[in-house]
Amino acid sequence: MGTYRKSAARSKRTAKRREMAGMFFKWLLRFYYKHSPECHCGWAMKPFVKYTDKHQWKCIWKGCGWEAFEDSNGDIDFVEINK
Ligand SMILES: [Zn+2]
Repeated sequence: MGTYRKSAARSKRTAKRREMAGMFFKWLLRFYYKHSPECHCGWAMKPFVKYTDKHQWKCIWKGCGWEAFEDSNGDIDFVEINK
């Protein structure tokens, strides 16, 4: 019983540490892509150039599919790209 409780506590700690690492990673990305908007899914967005000279970003998470661009008013618009 004592052993079980100890290992349960340890796995809880590990999960917590993993969560912290994930948060830190997201924070790091947000810091790295400082001027980029945050995607709807919570991940950072990275700048890319496709076909215009506007500021454009896309989500760093490949499975997401959202892109963002700055419109003529300086607002950031989000678009979902269907693949
Ligand atoms: Zn996203």
